[in-house]
Amino acid sequence: MTTCPIFTGGEWRTVTDVPNTPVHNPSTGHVIAEAPLCGPRHVDEAVEAAAAAFPAWWETPPVERARVLFQFKALLEQQFEELIRLNTREHGKTLAESRGDVKRGIEMVEFACGIPSLLMGESMENIARGIDCDAIRQPLGVCAGITPFNFPAMVPLWMYPVALACGNTFVLKPSEKVPLTAIRIVQLLAEAGLPKGVINIVHGGRDCVEAILAHPKIKAISFVGSTPVARHVFEVGTRHGKRVQSNGGAKNHIFVMPDADVENSTRGIIEAAYGCAGERCMAGSTAIMIGEAAKKVLPSILEAARAMQVGPTDRETQPQMGPVITRQHRQRVEQLIEAGAQEGARIAVDGRSISVPSEPDGFFLGATVLDGVRDGMSVAREEIFGPVLNVMHVADLEEAIAQANRCTYGNGASIFTRSGRAAREFKHSVKAGMVGVNIGVPASMAWFPFNGWDESFFGDLHMQGKEGVQFFTRQKVTMTRWFSEGEGDIWHR
Ligand code: NAD
Repeated sequence: MTTCPIFTGGEWRTVTDVPNTPVHNPSTGHVIAEAPLCGPRHVDEAVEAAAAAFPAWWETPPVERARVLFQFKALLEQQFEELIRLNTREHGKTLAESRGDVKRGIEMVEFACGIPSLLMGESMENIARGIDCDAIRQPLGVCAGITPFNFPAMVPLWMYPVALACGNTFVLKPSEKVPLTAIRIVQLLAEAGLPKGVINIVHGGRDCVEAILAHPKIKAISFVGSTPVARHVFEVGTRHGKRVQSNGGAKNHIFVMPDADVENSTRGIIEAAYGCAGERCMAGSTAIMIGEAAKKVLPSILEAARAMQVGPTDRETQPQMGPVITRQHRQRVEQLIEAGAQEGARIAVDGRSISVPSEPDGFFLGATVLDGVRDGMSVAREEIFGPVLNVMHVADLEEAIAQANRCTYGNGASIFTRSGRAAREFKHSVKAGMVGVNIGVPASMAWFPFNGWDESFFGDLHMQGKEGVQFFTRQKVTMTRWFSEGEGDIWHR
Protein backbone atom coordinates (compact mmCIF):
# COMPACT_ATOMS: atom_id res chain seq x y z
CA MET A 1 0.00 0.00 0.00
CA THR A 2 1.40 3.39 -1.01
CA THR A 3 1.32 6.02 1.69
CA CYS A 4 1.44 9.43 0.03
CA PRO A 5 4.57 11.33 1.02
CA ILE A 6 4.64 15.03 1.79
CA PHE A 7 7.23 17.18 0.00
CA THR A 8 8.94 19.91 2.00
CA GLY A 9 12.22 21.67 1.30
CA GLY A 10 12.91 19.38 -1.65
CA GLU A 11 12.60 16.16 0.39
CA TRP A 12 9.88 13.52 0.07
CA ARG A 13 8.95 12.15 3.48
CA THR A 14 6.36 9.71 4.81
CA VAL A 15 4.43 11.08 7.75
CA THR A 16 3.80 8.43 10.40
CA ASP A 17 2.35 10.37 13.33
CA VAL A 18 -1.13 11.14 11.97
CA PRO A 19 -4.04 8.97 10.78
CA ASN A 20 -4.39 8.18 7.08
CA THR A 21 -7.40 8.36 4.79
CA PRO A 22 -7.94 5.83 1.97
CA VAL A 23 -7.59 6.65 -1.72
CA HIS A 24 -9.82 4.44 -3.92
CA ASN A 25 -9.88 3.28 -7.48
CA PRO A 26 -13.55 4.17 -8.10
CA SER A 27 -13.77 1.63 -10.95
CA THR A 28 -13.09 -1.29 -8.60
CA GLY A 29 -13.85 0.16 -5.18
CA HIS A 30 -10.41 -1.03 -4.03
CA VAL A 31 -8.15 1.05 -1.80
CA ILE A 32 -5.01 1.83 -3.81
CA ALA A 33 -3.18 4.22 -1.48
CA GLU A 34 -3.58 6.23 1.67
CA ALA A 35 -2.99 9.89 2.38
CA PRO A 36 -1.92 11.30 5.75
CA LEU A 37 -4.26 13.77 7.43
CA CYS A 38 -1.64 16.43 8.10
CA GLY A 39 -2.16 19.19 10.64
CA PRO A 40 -0.55 22.46 11.70
CA ARG A 41 2.95 21.00 12.25
CA HIS A 42 3.28 19.69 8.70
CA VAL A 43 1.80 22.84 7.25
CA ASP A 44 4.31 24.85 9.26
CA GLU A 45 7.18 22.69 7.99
CA ALA A 46 6.07 23.25 4.38
CA VAL A 47 5.53 26.98 4.85
CA GLU A 48 8.93 27.46 6.51
CA ALA A 49 10.59 25.66 3.59
CA ALA A 50 8.70 27.85 1.13
CA ALA A 51 9.58 31.01 3.08
CA ALA A 52 13.27 30.05 3.12
CA ALA A 53 13.27 29.43 -0.64
CA PHE A 54 11.46 32.66 -1.49
CA PRO A 55 14.29 35.27 -1.53
CA ALA A 56 16.49 33.37 -4.00
CA TRP A 57 13.55 32.39 -6.22
CA TRP A 58 12.34 35.99 -6.33
CA GLU A 59 15.82 37.12 -7.39
CA THR A 60 15.86 34.52 -10.18
CA PRO A 61 15.16 36.43 -13.42
CA PRO A 62 11.70 35.70 -14.86
CA VAL A 63 13.25 34.29 -18.02
CA GLU A 64 15.15 31.70 -15.93
CA ARG A 65 12.00 30.85 -14.01
CA ALA A 66 10.29 30.37 -17.38
CA ARG A 67 13.06 28.00 -18.50
CA VAL A 68 12.24 25.67 -15.60
CA LEU A 69 8.60 25.76 -16.71
CA PHE A 70 9.54 24.98 -20.31
CA GLN A 71 11.41 21.92 -19.04
CA PHE A 72 8.43 21.03 -16.83
CA LYS A 73 6.12 21.19 -19.87
CA ALA A 74 8.46 18.88 -21.79
CA LEU A 75 8.42 16.34 -18.92
CA LEU A 76 4.61 16.51 -18.65
CA GLU A 77 4.40 15.73 -22.36
CA GLN A 78 6.92 12.90 -22.09
CA GLN A 79 4.98 11.32 -19.21
CA PHE A 80 1.56 12.13 -20.67
CA GLU A 81 0.33 8.53 -21.00
CA GLU A 82 1.51 7.62 -17.50
CA LEU A 83 -0.24 10.68 -16.07
CA ILE A 84 -3.57 10.02 -17.75
CA ARG A 85 -3.57 6.41 -16.54
CA LEU A 86 -2.77 7.46 -12.98
CA ASN A 87 -5.46 10.14 -13.15
CA THR A 88 -8.03 7.62 -14.37
CA ARG A 89 -7.01 5.10 -11.73
CA GLU A 90 -7.58 7.37 -8.76
CA HIS A 91 -10.44 9.46 -10.16
CA GLY A 92 -12.42 7.15 -12.43
CA LYS A 93 -12.55 9.45 -15.46
CA THR A 94 -12.38 7.78 -18.86
CA LEU A 95 -8.94 7.93 -20.48
CA ALA A 96 -10.23 10.53 -22.95
CA GLU A 97 -11.43 12.69 -20.05
CA SER A 98 -8.13 12.28 -18.24
CA ARG A 99 -6.35 13.29 -21.43
CA GLY A 100 -8.40 16.50 -21.42
CA ASP A 101 -7.60 17.10 -17.73
CA VAL A 102 -3.84 16.80 -18.24
CA LYS A 103 -3.90 18.75 -21.52
CA ARG A 104 -5.70 21.69 -19.97
CA GLY A 105 -3.13 21.61 -17.16
CA ILE A 106 -0.26 21.69 -19.67
CA GLU A 107 -1.86 24.73 -21.31
CA MET A 108 -1.58 26.55 -18.00
CA VAL A 109 2.14 25.76 -17.96
CA GLU A 110 2.40 27.06 -21.52
CA PHE A 111 0.67 30.26 -20.46
CA ALA A 112 3.03 30.65 -17.48
CA CYS A 113 6.06 30.15 -19.76
CA GLY A 114 5.25 33.59 -21.19
CA ILE A 115 5.91 35.24 -17.84
CA PRO A 116 8.62 37.70 -19.01
CA SER A 117 6.04 39.37 -21.26
CA LEU A 118 3.19 38.97 -18.78
CA LEU A 119 5.13 40.67 -15.98
CA MET A 120 5.97 43.78 -17.96
CA GLY A 121 4.83 46.90 -16.17
CA GLU A 122 3.75 50.36 -17.25
CA SER A 123 5.63 53.62 -17.37
CA MET A 124 4.99 57.23 -18.20
CA GLU A 125 7.37 60.08 -18.79
CA ASN A 126 6.62 63.54 -17.31
CA ILE A 127 3.80 62.45 -15.07
CA ALA A 128 4.59 65.82 -13.54
CA ARG A 129 7.20 68.25 -14.84
CA GLY A 130 10.59 66.43 -14.79
CA ILE A 131 9.14 63.40 -12.99
CA ASP A 132 8.73 59.92 -14.51
CA CYS A 133 6.57 57.16 -13.14
CA ASP A 134 6.64 53.40 -13.52
CA ALA A 135 4.72 50.47 -12.08
CA ILE A 136 6.30 47.05 -11.71
CA ARG A 137 4.86 43.78 -10.42
CA GLN A 138 6.49 41.91 -7.54
CA PRO A 139 5.63 38.51 -6.04
CA LEU A 140 3.73 38.17 -2.77
CA GLY A 141 5.83 35.51 -1.01
CA VAL A 142 4.48 32.15 0.11
CA CYS A 143 1.19 31.22 -1.58
CA ALA A 144 -0.99 28.16 -0.97
CA GLY A 145 -3.39 26.12 -3.10
CA ILE A 146 -6.22 23.85 -1.93
CA THR A 147 -7.85 21.74 -4.62
CA PRO A 148 -10.93 19.52 -5.19
CA PHE A 149 -11.12 15.92 -6.37
CA ASN A 150 -12.67 16.44 -9.79
CA PHE A 151 -9.70 17.58 -11.91
CA PRO A 152 -6.63 16.05 -10.23
CA ALA A 153 -4.20 17.46 -12.82
CA MET A 154 -5.74 20.67 -14.15
CA VAL A 155 -6.91 22.46 -11.01
CA PRO A 156 -3.56 22.38 -9.14
CA LEU A 157 -2.00 23.53 -12.44
CA TRP A 158 -4.39 26.51 -12.53
CA MET A 159 -2.49 27.75 -9.51
CA TYR A 160 1.19 27.05 -9.00
CA PRO A 161 2.70 27.46 -12.50
CA VAL A 162 1.56 31.09 -12.54
CA ALA A 163 2.37 31.65 -8.86
CA LEU A 164 5.91 30.30 -9.33
CA ALA A 165 6.46 32.10 -12.63
CA CYS A 166 5.66 35.36 -10.83
CA GLY A 167 8.40 34.59 -8.28
CA ASN A 168 6.35 33.21 -5.37
CA THR A 169 6.92 29.95 -3.57
CA PHE A 170 4.05 27.54 -2.98
CA VAL A 171 2.41 25.00 -0.68
CA LEU A 172 -0.13 22.70 -2.36
CA LYS A 173 -2.78 20.72 -0.51
CA PRO A 174 -4.40 18.48 -3.13
CA SER A 175 -7.69 16.69 -2.54
CA GLU A 176 -7.14 13.80 -0.14
CA LYS A 177 -9.34 11.73 -2.50
CA VAL A 178 -6.94 12.10 -5.48
CA PRO A 179 -3.43 12.95 -4.25
CA LEU A 180 -1.45 10.64 -6.57
CA THR A 181 -1.59 12.64 -9.82
CA ALA A 182 -0.71 15.85 -7.96
CA ILE A 183 2.31 14.14 -6.38
CA ARG A 184 3.55 12.72 -9.68
CA ILE A 185 3.26 16.12 -11.38
CA VAL A 186 5.20 17.83 -8.60
CA GLN A 187 7.90 15.13 -8.92
CA LEU A 188 8.24 16.14 -12.56
CA LEU A 189 8.45 19.81 -11.59
CA ALA A 190 11.27 19.03 -9.17
CA GLU A 191 12.97 17.02 -11.92
CA ALA A 192 12.66 20.03 -14.22
CA GLY A 193 15.15 21.84 -12.01
CA LEU A 194 12.97 23.81 -9.58
CA PRO A 195 15.09 24.73 -6.54
CA LYS A 196 14.33 23.03 -3.24
CA GLY A 197 11.49 24.48 -1.20
CA VAL A 198 9.95 26.46 -4.06
CA ILE A 199 7.07 23.96 -4.25
CA ASN A 200 5.89 21.87 -1.31
CA ILE A 201 3.01 19.43 -0.78
CA VAL A 202 1.03 18.49 2.31
CA HIS A 203 -2.04 16.25 2.46
CA GLY A 204 -5.22 16.12 4.49
CA GLY A 205 -8.67 17.54 4.95
CA ARG A 206 -10.27 20.15 7.14
CA ASP A 207 -7.53 20.45 9.83
CA CYS A 208 -4.88 20.90 7.19
CA VAL A 209 -6.94 23.60 5.47
CA GLU A 210 -7.57 25.43 8.78
CA ALA A 211 -3.82 25.44 9.45
CA ILE A 212 -3.21 26.96 6.01
CA LEU A 213 -5.88 29.62 6.54
CA ALA A 214 -4.34 30.69 9.85
CA HIS A 215 -0.65 30.51 8.97
CA PRO A 216 0.86 34.00 9.33
CA LYS A 217 3.51 33.49 6.63
CA ILE A 218 1.06 32.58 3.86
CA LYS A 219 0.23 35.66 1.83
CA ALA A 220 -2.33 34.33 -0.64
CA ILE A 221 -4.64 31.34 -1.00
CA SER A 222 -6.18 29.84 -4.13
CA PHE A 223 -9.08 27.51 -3.39
CA VAL A 224 -11.34 25.40 -5.58
CA GLY A 225 -14.14 23.24 -4.14
CA SER A 226 -17.77 23.30 -3.01
CA THR A 227 -19.49 26.59 -2.21
CA PRO A 228 -19.81 26.22 1.59
CA VAL A 229 -16.08 25.50 1.90
CA ALA A 230 -15.17 28.15 -0.70
CA ARG A 231 -17.08 30.78 1.27
CA HIS A 232 -15.46 29.65 4.54
CA VAL A 233 -11.97 29.74 3.02
CA PHE A 234 -12.59 33.23 1.65
CA GLU A 235 -13.99 34.57 4.93
CA VAL A 236 -11.37 33.05 7.23
CA GLY A 237 -8.45 33.63 4.84
CA THR A 238 -9.26 37.31 4.31
CA ARG A 239 -9.87 37.76 8.04
CA HIS A 240 -6.27 36.59 8.49
CA GLY A 241 -5.18 39.31 6.06
CA LYS A 242 -4.56 37.06 3.05
CA ARG A 243 -5.43 37.61 -0.56
CA VAL A 244 -7.94 34.87 -1.49
CA GLN A 245 -9.43 33.63 -4.76
CA SER A 246 -12.02 30.96 -4.01
CA ASN A 247 -13.98 29.03 -6.65
CA GLY A 248 -17.16 27.32 -5.49
CA GLY A 249 -19.82 25.00 -6.87
CA ALA A 250 -22.28 25.58 -9.67
CA LYS A 251 -25.54 24.79 -11.39
CA ASN A 252 -25.29 25.51 -15.09
CA HIS A 253 -28.24 25.93 -17.41
CA ILE A 254 -28.40 24.93 -21.06
CA PHE A 255 -31.11 26.71 -23.04
CA VAL A 256 -32.61 24.86 -25.99
CA MET A 257 -34.48 27.10 -28.44
CA PRO A 258 -37.17 25.62 -30.70
CA ASP A 259 -34.92 26.25 -33.71
CA ALA A 260 -31.94 24.34 -32.25
CA ASP A 261 -30.33 21.64 -34.37
CA VAL A 262 -31.51 18.36 -32.81
CA GLU A 263 -28.33 16.36 -33.32
CA ASN A 264 -25.89 19.06 -32.21
CA SER A 265 -27.89 20.12 -29.18
CA THR A 266 -28.42 16.52 -28.08
CA ARG A 267 -24.69 15.80 -28.36
CA GLY A 268 -23.84 19.04 -26.53
CA ILE A 269 -26.28 18.37 -23.67
CA ILE A 270 -25.32 14.71 -23.24
CA GLU A 271 -21.61 15.59 -23.14
CA ALA A 272 -22.23 18.49 -20.75
CA ALA A 273 -24.46 16.51 -18.38
CA TYR A 274 -22.62 13.18 -18.30
CA GLY A 275 -18.99 13.98 -19.18
CA CYS A 276 -16.78 13.11 -16.18
CA ALA A 277 -19.93 11.46 -14.70
CA GLY A 278 -21.35 14.94 -14.13
CA GLU A 279 -18.55 15.77 -11.69
CA ARG A 280 -17.61 19.07 -13.31
CA CYS A 281 -18.20 22.58 -12.04
CA MET A 282 -19.14 23.40 -15.64
CA ALA A 283 -21.47 20.40 -16.04
CA GLY A 284 -24.63 21.31 -17.92
CA SER A 285 -26.87 20.00 -15.17
CA THR A 286 -30.14 21.68 -16.20
CA ALA A 287 -31.61 21.76 -19.70
CA ILE A 288 -34.25 24.46 -20.14
CA MET A 289 -36.58 23.48 -22.98
CA ILE A 290 -38.07 26.59 -24.56
CA GLY A 291 -41.48 26.31 -26.22
CA GLU A 292 -41.58 23.55 -28.84
CA ALA A 293 -37.93 22.56 -28.21
CA ALA A 294 -38.97 19.79 -25.82
CA LYS A 295 -40.97 17.97 -28.49
CA LYS A 296 -38.04 18.05 -30.91
CA VAL A 297 -35.01 17.50 -28.72
CA LEU A 298 -36.08 15.75 -25.51
CA PRO A 299 -36.81 12.35 -27.13
CA SER A 300 -33.30 12.14 -28.55
CA ILE A 301 -31.78 13.19 -25.20
CA LEU A 302 -33.72 10.44 -23.40
CA GLU A 303 -32.66 7.91 -26.01
CA ALA A 304 -28.98 8.88 -25.71
CA ALA A 305 -29.12 8.83 -21.88
CA ARG A 306 -30.66 5.34 -21.90
CA ALA A 307 -27.96 4.13 -24.29
CA MET A 308 -25.07 5.51 -22.23
CA GLN A 309 -22.56 2.73 -21.50
CA VAL A 310 -21.16 2.83 -17.99
CA GLY A 311 -18.22 0.78 -16.76
CA PRO A 312 -14.68 0.62 -15.43
CA THR A 313 -12.29 3.11 -16.98
CA ASP A 314 -8.93 1.66 -15.92
CA ARG A 315 -8.63 -0.79 -18.85
CA GLU A 316 -8.29 -0.80 -22.58
CA THR A 317 -11.98 -1.10 -23.52
CA GLN A 318 -13.41 2.25 -22.56
CA PRO A 319 -17.01 2.96 -21.56
CA GLN A 320 -18.74 6.27 -22.35
CA MET A 321 -18.98 7.08 -18.67
CA GLY A 322 -17.03 6.00 -15.58
CA PRO A 323 -17.93 5.78 -11.89
CA VAL A 324 -18.43 8.63 -9.42
CA ILE A 325 -15.72 9.37 -6.88
CA THR A 326 -16.84 7.47 -3.75
CA ARG A 327 -19.57 5.16 -2.47
CA GLN A 328 -20.83 7.94 -0.17
CA HIS A 329 -21.06 10.37 -3.05
CA ARG A 330 -23.08 7.86 -5.07
CA GLN A 331 -25.47 7.50 -2.12
CA ARG A 332 -25.84 11.28 -1.90
CA VAL A 333 -26.68 11.55 -5.60
CA GLU A 334 -29.16 8.65 -5.32
CA GLN A 335 -30.84 10.40 -2.40
CA LEU A 336 -31.14 13.60 -4.41
CA ILE A 337 -32.75 11.69 -7.30
CA GLU A 338 -35.25 10.23 -4.84
CA ALA A 339 -35.91 13.68 -3.35
CA GLY A 340 -36.52 15.04 -6.86
CA ALA A 341 -39.14 12.33 -7.46
CA GLN A 342 -40.78 12.96 -4.07
CA GLU A 343 -41.01 16.67 -4.85
CA GLY A 344 -42.79 16.04 -8.16
CA ALA A 345 -40.15 15.52 -10.87
CA ARG A 346 -40.54 12.53 -13.20
CA ILE A 347 -37.60 10.13 -13.35
CA ALA A 348 -37.53 9.77 -17.14
CA VAL A 349 -34.28 7.78 -17.11
CA ASP A 350 -33.20 6.10 -13.86
CA GLY A 351 -29.48 5.40 -13.58
CA ARG A 352 -29.80 3.88 -10.12
CA SER A 353 -30.72 0.52 -11.59
CA ILE A 354 -27.41 0.16 -13.41
CA SER A 355 -25.34 -2.97 -12.84
CA VAL A 356 -21.72 -3.49 -13.85
CA PRO A 357 -21.16 -7.23 -13.34
CA SER A 358 -17.40 -7.09 -14.01
CA GLU A 359 -16.89 -4.66 -11.10
CA PRO A 360 -19.70 -5.06 -8.57
CA ASP A 361 -17.85 -2.91 -5.98
CA GLY A 362 -17.18 0.03 -8.33
CA PHE A 363 -18.98 3.31 -7.60
CA PHE A 364 -21.20 3.26 -10.69
CA LEU A 365 -24.33 5.23 -11.34
CA GLY A 366 -26.07 5.39 -14.69
CA ALA A 367 -27.17 8.44 -16.63
CA THR A 368 -30.35 9.87 -15.10
CA VAL A 369 -32.90 12.39 -16.40
CA LEU A 370 -35.33 14.20 -14.10
CA ASP A 371 -38.07 15.78 -16.20
CA GLY A 372 -40.40 18.54 -15.04
CA VAL A 373 -38.03 20.00 -12.45
CA ARG A 374 -39.38 23.24 -10.98
CA ASP A 375 -38.09 26.07 -8.86
CA GLY A 376 -37.87 25.30 -5.18
CA MET A 377 -37.22 21.56 -5.59
CA SER A 378 -34.03 20.42 -3.84
CA VAL A 379 -32.65 19.18 -7.17
CA ALA A 380 -33.19 22.66 -8.65
CA ARG A 381 -31.35 24.36 -5.77
CA GLU A 382 -28.50 22.00 -4.86
CA GLU A 383 -25.49 21.12 -6.93
CA ILE A 384 -25.91 17.38 -7.61
CA PHE A 385 -22.41 16.77 -9.03
CA GLY A 386 -23.33 13.43 -10.57
CA PRO A 387 -24.74 12.04 -13.85
CA VAL A 388 -28.16 13.66 -13.45
CA LEU A 389 -29.77 16.01 -15.96
CA ASN A 390 -32.65 18.19 -14.77
CA VAL A 391 -35.11 19.20 -17.47
CA MET A 392 -37.24 22.33 -17.05
CA HIS A 393 -39.92 23.63 -19.42
CA VAL A 394 -40.64 27.31 -20.13
CA ALA A 395 -42.66 29.21 -22.73
CA ASP A 396 -40.06 31.61 -24.14
CA LEU A 397 -36.52 32.95 -23.95
CA GLU A 398 -37.46 35.69 -21.50
CA GLU A 399 -38.89 33.16 -19.06
CA ALA A 400 -35.80 30.95 -19.50
CA ILE A 401 -33.48 33.84 -18.67
CA ALA A 402 -35.55 34.73 -15.59
CA GLN A 403 -35.49 31.06 -14.53
CA ALA A 404 -31.71 30.68 -14.90
CA ASN A 405 -31.03 34.05 -13.26
CA ARG A 406 -32.85 33.03 -10.06
CA CYS A 407 -30.06 30.51 -9.46
CA THR A 408 -27.68 31.57 -6.67
CA TYR A 409 -24.64 30.25 -8.56
CA GLY A 410 -23.10 31.95 -11.59
CA ASN A 411 -20.52 29.76 -13.27
CA GLY A 412 -21.79 28.86 -16.74
CA ALA A 413 -24.77 28.96 -19.09
CA SER A 414 -25.22 27.90 -22.73
CA ILE A 415 -27.74 28.25 -25.50
CA PHE A 416 -28.40 26.03 -28.50
CA THR A 417 -30.04 27.99 -31.28
CA ARG A 418 -29.78 29.05 -34.92
CA SER A 419 -30.93 32.57 -34.10
CA GLY A 420 -28.29 35.27 -33.74
CA ARG A 421 -30.82 37.55 -32.10
CA ALA A 422 -31.70 34.97 -29.43
CA ALA A 423 -28.03 34.20 -28.82
CA ARG A 424 -27.24 37.89 -28.42
CA GLU A 425 -30.13 38.46 -25.99
CA PHE A 426 -29.06 35.37 -24.01
CA LYS A 427 -25.41 36.44 -23.86
CA HIS A 428 -26.36 39.93 -22.74
CA SER A 429 -28.89 38.99 -20.06
CA VAL A 430 -27.92 35.67 -18.54
CA LYS A 431 -26.31 35.87 -15.09
CA ALA A 432 -23.22 33.70 -15.48
CA GLY A 433 -19.53 34.41 -15.86
CA MET A 434 -18.85 31.87 -18.67
CA VAL A 435 -21.33 31.70 -21.50
CA GLY A 436 -21.59 29.33 -24.48
CA VAL A 437 -23.36 29.69 -27.80
CA ASN A 438 -23.88 26.22 -29.31
CA ILE A 439 -21.20 24.94 -26.88
CA GLY A 440 -22.33 22.75 -23.99
CA VAL A 441 -19.36 23.30 -21.65
CA PRO A 442 -18.10 26.87 -22.10
CA ALA A 443 -15.21 26.44 -19.65
CA SER A 444 -12.70 29.16 -20.40
CA MET A 445 -9.14 28.15 -21.26
CA ALA A 446 -5.74 29.13 -19.83
CA TRP A 447 -5.55 32.57 -21.46
CA PHE A 448 -8.92 33.81 -20.16
CA PRO A 449 -10.12 33.99 -16.56
CA PHE A 450 -12.02 31.00 -15.17
CA ASN A 451 -14.80 33.38 -14.49
CA GLY A 452 -17.38 32.29 -11.91
CA TRP A 453 -19.86 34.83 -10.51
CA ASP A 454 -22.00 35.01 -7.37
CA GLU A 455 -21.87 31.83 -5.23
CA SER A 456 -19.52 30.19 -7.72
CA PHE A 457 -16.69 32.56 -6.83
CA PHE A 458 -15.51 34.54 -3.82
CA GLY A 459 -12.82 37.13 -4.41
CA ASP A 460 -11.83 39.69 -7.02
CA LEU A 461 -9.20 38.16 -9.29
CA HIS A 462 -9.93 34.81 -10.93
CA MET A 463 -7.55 31.97 -11.82
CA GLN A 464 -6.08 31.74 -15.34
CA GLY A 465 -5.17 34.51 -17.76
CA LYS A 466 -3.94 37.96 -16.78
CA GLU A 467 -6.09 37.98 -13.65
CA GLY A 468 -4.00 35.06 -12.40
CA VAL A 469 -0.83 37.09 -12.84
CA GLN A 470 -2.43 40.03 -11.05
CA PHE A 471 -3.54 37.78 -8.20
CA PHE A 472 -0.03 36.44 -7.59
CA THR A 473 1.72 39.83 -7.74
CA ARG A 474 1.42 43.27 -6.22
CA GLN A 475 2.35 46.50 -7.92
CA LYS A 476 5.04 48.93 -6.91
CA VAL A 477 4.72 52.41 -8.35
CA THR A 478 7.92 54.50 -8.48
CA MET A 479 8.11 58.26 -9.03
CA THR A 480 11.56 59.38 -10.18
CA ARG A 481 13.11 62.83 -10.49
CA TRP A 482 16.73 63.57 -11.40
CA PHE A 483 18.03 66.99 -10.40
CA SER A 484 20.17 69.02 -12.70
CA GLU A 485 23.89 69.62 -12.13
CA GLY A 486 24.61 65.98 -11.47
CA GLU A 487 22.81 65.67 -8.14
CA GLY A 488 21.71 62.07 -7.82
CA ASP A 489 23.90 61.08 -10.78
CA ILE A 490 26.68 58.72 -9.62
CA TRP A 491 28.90 59.40 -12.66
CA HIS A 492 29.40 63.07 -11.73
CA ARG A 493 30.23 62.67 -8.03
P1 NAD B 1 -14.82 20.02 -1.30
O1 NAD B 1 -15.29 21.39 -0.99
O2 NAD B 1 -15.39 18.89 -0.52
O3 NAD B 1 -13.23 19.93 -1.09
C1 NAD B 1 -12.35 20.85 -1.69
C2 NAD B 1 -11.11 20.99 -0.82
O4 NAD B 1 -11.48 21.51 0.46
C3 NAD B 1 -10.40 19.67 -0.58
O5 NAD B 1 -9.01 19.88 -0.66
C4 NAD B 1 -10.84 19.28 0.82
O6 NAD B 1 -9.85 18.56 1.52
C5 NAD B 1 -11.10 20.61 1.50
N1 NAD B 1 -12.22 20.56 2.46
C6 NAD B 1 -13.33 19.77 2.39
N2 NAD B 1 -14.16 20.05 3.42
C7 NAD B 1 -13.58 21.04 4.14
C8 NAD B 1 -13.96 21.77 5.31
N3 NAD B 1 -15.10 21.52 5.94
N4 NAD B 1 -13.12 22.72 5.77
C9 NAD B 1 -11.97 22.99 5.13
N5 NAD B 1 -11.56 22.33 4.02
C10 NAD B 1 -12.35 21.36 3.52
O7 NAD B 1 -15.01 19.80 -2.87
P2 NAD B 1 -14.81 18.45 -3.69
O8 NAD B 1 -15.94 17.54 -3.38
O9 NAD B 1 -13.42 17.95 -3.57
O10 NAD B 1 -14.96 19.04 -5.18
C11 NAD B 1 -16.19 19.23 -5.80
C12 NAD B 1 -16.65 20.66 -5.70
O11 NAD B 1 -15.68 21.53 -6.29
C13 NAD B 1 -17.93 20.92 -6.48
O12 NAD B 1 -18.77 21.73 -5.72
C14 NAD B 1 -17.47 21.62 -7.73
O13 NAD B 1 -18.44 22.45 -8.35
C15 NAD B 1 -16.34 22.43 -7.19
N6 NAD B 1 -15.43 22.86 -8.24
C16 NAD B 1 -15.47 24.16 -8.62
C17 NAD B 1 -14.67 24.61 -9.65
C18 NAD B 1 -14.71 26.05 -10.07
O14 NAD B 1 -13.80 26.49 -10.73
N7 NAD B 1 -15.74 26.80 -9.70
C19 NAD B 1 -13.80 23.73 -10.30
C20 NAD B 1 -13.77 22.40 -9.88
C21 NAD B 1 -14.60 21.98 -8.85
